[in-house]
Amino acid sequence: MTTLLRELIAGDAFAPTRTFDELARFHVETGTLYFSAPEWLARAQRYADENPLAVEGDWLSGVGVSRWPTTKHGKTPIEPEYGVFHATVTENMDHAVQALRDTSGSTTASAHLVIGEDGSVAQLAPFNLATYHTGRSASGSAERMNQRSIGIELVNWGELRKAGGAFHPASGGTLSDPRVEAAPDAVSRKPKYWEAYTDRQLFRAVEIARLLRQRYGLSDFLGHYEIAGDRKVDPGPAFPLPLVRLAVYGGDPNRLAAESFRRALEVDPGNAEAREGMAKVVTNYVDLARQALAKNDRRAAEDYVAHAADLSRGDARVDSLRARLRAP
Ligand SMILES: [Zn+2]
Repeated sequence: MTTLLRELIAGDAFAPTRTFDELARFHVETGTLYFSAPEWLARAQRYADENPLAVEGDWLSGVGVSRWPTTKHGKTPIEPEYGVFHATVTENMDHAVQALRDTSGSTTASAHLVIGEDGSVAQLAPFNLATYHTGRSASGSAERMNQRSIGIELVNWGELRKAGGAFHPASGGTLSDPRVEAAPDAVSRKPKYWEAYTDRQLFRAVEIARLLRQRYGLSDFLGHYEIAGDRKVDPGPAFPLPLVRLAVYGGDPNRLAAESFRRALEVDPGNAEAREGMAKVVTNYVDLARQALAKNDRRAAEDYVAHAADLSRGDARVDSLRARLRAP
């Protein structure tokens, strides 16, 4: 949990109303997600290399980027500190852009960017003016957040309802060819169905987040649900926020996975999946140490062995690696 969250929300983001069980499951899911990080980040990088973007002035440019200015923005320049991800809960880009530019009074909401399912991007306001994407909250923190953040919407239906063997978005109707993920939401931790994001959308989100960090020095990227109390669930569990943060700020996926499993075990010491996850982290470090030794990189090998030793006790593989490293 980031300092910002502590600052903005009264109490813990994972409210005490949640059971230990639900909290443990959340940490296990996050830890497991980190195992897919290296391959996922490599694919995201390839996509970014093939579809480069840039920030010029306070606007994004590049292939597939268009401008649809809205008048729903603040007047005085802001210095954004965070990026906030959202789901549009619309069928497509056109509907999302239309709603976010609409001034008939049906919605006051706006945002800086909308990322379509095909990776196309619409920008509605320059990044140095506030848009109205975080909504209201009792504490007033959301209003302040509009002044401190860049709002990034992804075209996505969000939560889907399953009935009669079909999936339905909140606005009604039936999805003909839905991409569905089942996962608990971040607020209630109840298992639900969600529309999956496309790879192109997620890779673009990573690329944009990196550029915005470079340009504005953003200190974190958040999901709307993290700053909206229990009011919002978007962008939902189908959006891999931990991977996006890893892509933007770097870090060791194995260490992050271990930290998630440690948290799961803290609330549920007998959690079998968390124990398995932790064992897999140790195995990953052992493998990395062996690979480093094969390349004669003793220093890296020592680091990996130290990490593995921190997380295990009496592991024969770790002991044997230590013995090899002690040998002249
Ligand atoms: Zn939102």
